[in-house]
Amino acid sequence: MRVKTRMAPSPTGFLHVGTARTTIFNFLYSRHMGGEFVLRIEDTDIERSEKRFEEDIIVGLKWLGIEWDGEITRQSERIDTYEKYIRKLLDEGKTFYCPHSGEELERERKSQLWDKESPRHVCDARDSKLKSGLIRFKNNTSEKIKFSDEIRGELSFDPQLLGDFSLAKDLRTPLYNFAVVVDDQEMEITHVIRGEDHISNTPKQILLEDALGFARPIFAHLPLILGSDKSKLSKRHGATSLTEYKNGGYLPEALFNFMAILGWHLPDTGKAEGEQEIFSKEELIKNFSLERVQKAGAIFDITKLDWMNGEYIRHKSSKELSRLATPYLATWLSDNQVDVRHDLDLEKIITLEQPRLKKLSELPEKTDYFFKEPEYDVALLKWKQMNNNQIKSSLETAKEILQSVDENGMTKENLEKIFLEKAGKDRGELLWPLRVALSGKKASPGPFDIMHILGKNASISRLETAIDKLV
Ligand code: GLU
Repeated sequence: MRVKTRMAPSPTGFLHVGTARTTIFNFLYSRHMGGEFVLRIEDTDIERSEKRFEEDIIVGLKWLGIEWDGEITRQSERIDTYEKYIRKLLDEGKTFYCPHSGEELERERKSQLWDKESPRHVCDARDSKLKSGLIRFKNNTSEKIKFSDEIRGELSFDPQLLGDFSLAKDLRTPLYNFAVVVDDQEMEITHVIRGEDHISNTPKQILLEDALGFARPIFAHLPLILGSDKSKLSKRHGATSLTEYKNGGYLPEALFNFMAILGWHLPDTGKAEGEQEIFSKEELIKNFSLERVQKAGAIFDITKLDWMNGEYIRHKSSKELSRLATPYLATWLSDNQVDVRHDLDLEKIITLEQPRLKKLSELPEKTDYFFKEPEYDVALLKWKQMNNNQIKSSLETAKEILQSVDENGMTKENLEKIFLEKAGKDRGELLWPLRVALSGKKASPGPFDIMHILGKNASISRLETAIDKLV
């Protein structure tokens, strides 16, 4: 059997991280098995489906590096097919038009809830001669509906609890459970891998598959993604749409890796903790298996994502990192109307932060002092017990040293050598005020790197500003 999986998002919202994770699992499984993976847009709910959401889903999945096979299928283009099967079931007397009004059904639902029964509609008018209205499945099943889920094992459902469930609003408006069954059959899907929230739909789909004489796919229901408090991931926990992560400075490879191990893990490889969790797409494809998907919910640990993103940032070449990060700086510069000196080397500035960066979006706040004069409290210049006169004289020494260096000597190594030769026993006395004068920050890269990038004149001018602050 050649494996064929599908992802079937409804374009009723922006690409959710849960949808992205389910897509990754479908993608990895099909690729691991040497099978196919297709994308189907489930847009039959015309009121809630929107083109902009569809675009967001497609753009987001592509950005993550997920490739699907063949053309995208859209359910809205397959209405004739659904109608054909709806008619078939009506002709065979397996479905019927329900004559009950919305109010009647609502009353029934409320009274069932009141009696602590699960709401369902067992129709007393299955033989009505009506030719319009909600189309329902004649549920005559008495035996338990059973299926073996690849992740959750044997599952069994009481068919009585489903009642005569609805499958279409009319001949040309199928509902989710019906369209999904028709499509999975016609598209020859072998494995339905989706979120655990769809377990309750599965018995209905099985009854429809049986009624239509379709093959039953293999089901694998993935554990939910949970927030840090172990409740279902929602806006409350932070961003849930992929675009927010993309704009927030996460790299697609990092997100892909992070989501691929949300609820799935490799056997112990003997690698150090941490390293154990960093996998390329190829490694994930090679090792993925449904057997190792856990049943319990998977916690979306943002601290871990940040760490992982940092690891991926560190593996980029300077050139690539600079290409990826420049838009974040450019937006900040234009929002703040900052004119950039033409001789400033952006790549060097970005690379300087590479060892510490967790997200590309952190760059503007970390590097702003390269682009505009730093603002800081004079107290920050103070190292240990130094008084203002001592700080001032330290800054003057730094200025003199810098004045003695010619332009060619403005390399990090040379500056480091010259300054360290002149520094006293406590290097901080010379280097701390110098670094603060240059960056205006409590924490920043070292002064030699900064002077090298800023250049001689700008560095001297910052020292002078700091000296003036001390009078
Ligand atoms: N359109 C459904 C959803 O977005 C698909 C569920 C399924 O995979 O069957 O939840």
